[in-house]
Amino acid sequence: MPSTEFEQIVLAGADDHDLTKLSEYEKVGGYQSLRKALGMERQAVLDELITASVRGRGGAGFPSGRKASFVPKPEQTTKPIYLTINADESEPGTFKDREIMARVPHRLIEGALITAYTIGSNAVFIYIRGEYLTEYEIVKAALDEARDRGLVGANIAGSSWNCTIVLHRGAGAYICGEETALLESLEGKRGQPRSKPPFPAIAGLYAAPTLINNVETIATVPAVIARGGAWYATLGVENANGTRVFSLSGNVVNGGNYELPLGTSLREVIYDIGGGIPNGRTLKAIIPGGSSTPILRADQIDTALDYDSVAAGGSMLGSGGIIAIDDRACMVQVALRVASFYQHESCGKCTPCREGTRWLVSLITKIEAGQGSNADLDLLVDVCGRIMGRSLCPLGDAAAMPISSYVERFREEFQAHIDQGCCPYGDQSSLDGILGPVQQAARMHRQLAVIA
Ligand code: SF4
Repeated sequence: MPSTEFEQIVLAGADDHDLTKLSEYEKVGGYQSLRKALGMERQAVLDELITASVRGRGGAGFPSGRKASFVPKPEQTTKPIYLTINADESEPGTFKDREIMARVPHRLIEGALITAYTIGSNAVFIYIRGEYLTEYEIVKAALDEARDRGLVGANIAGSSWNCTIVLHRGAGAYICGEETALLESLEGKRGQPRSKPPFPAIAGLYAAPTLINNVETIATVPAVIARGGAWYATLGVENANGTRVFSLSGNVVNGGNYELPLGTSLREVIYDIGGGIPNGRTLKAIIPGGSSTPILRADQIDTALDYDSVAAGGSMLGSGGIIAIDDRACMVQVALRVASFYQHESCGKCTPCREGTRWLVSLITKIEAGQGSNADLDLLVDVCGRIMGRSLCPLGDAAAMPISSYVERFREEFQAHIDQGCCPYGDQSSLDGILGPVQQAARMHRQLAVIA
């Protein structure tokens, strides 16, 4: 990852040291925060996390300190308390947790231990995406090293506190990034979401109190304890403290992960840091927070990357996965790509999502093939409305929100497909060369229509 002029928190030191090694991590202060926390009262550590107000980096953006405070105290429950770390990063456009695990695995482990200590847990589960085999091996090696040095297991760092950490590989299902589906999967069941309430803080893993946090959220904890929650709260902007590791991809010169203060503008990320749009093309649209977030038009490039500003622009900060889209992309094809993904990943448990995502793909395929009508376009918007807010888990909204935004903000492109009876891009859309199976079916439709 290229260096930036901004202070890094999560990835700090990784440009100059091989922080996968414990000895190198210790050179940059590694595990000092754990030792400091173990010398504090649990409530004092929690107070620091609440003051820092790190909003969950997985997508929902709920303040992580407050979330930890919802977990019953050890003296309030007869059950074990669990910490589960969501490393099942699967949102298209998002690859930050992958880099965190690959480059600063000990920061994740240290953050996990501090958080477990804070909530009175003796068992941590890291649920890692199945496809992240390399990252699994890196985290596992770091964990083995930490265990050998007495930093994981019994009497951690010479204290009387014990904590085990279990690494668990998923099997490649996007839905297992949803917290209750993750718990089901961890218990050995089919990875499908549970109804809430009860919430995991009360009845989570094995029906016991469970805190679930994202990798980046947890990797922020050592810095918060080292320098204090009040210091951390000075970073970023109001209501969006600290830094985020943004994943930048799509039509940009310098794609990659960049840790930046919250409040940095999209223009700075895409142009100043990302090097702008390659090949003399122009920016047409921006997905600001992973494929499930509503799309922004190019004239929203000065939107600040914080929760409130992106919301005011009609989208969400989401998982921090920014995708730049240039003027060669057919937006109907983009919509088809996104809808196809969510249809494939729908677990099928509830009807609005299971049937609705199928309808989305079917209607967009028809429009892309030049066989759609104005009634189909109206129906597409209607189906989005019938999925949103009516599904059991956030995947339904994740499918419908972006599609609805594509039609709202690029309706003229959908209309052109209907009016011209074909894709106005012909075979020149930048997505044409990398078609998925559903897009290939749409093209087949189109070709057959031409022959007929
Ligand atoms: Fe499953 Fe989709 Fe319903 Fe979530 S919204 S439970 S993924 S069918």
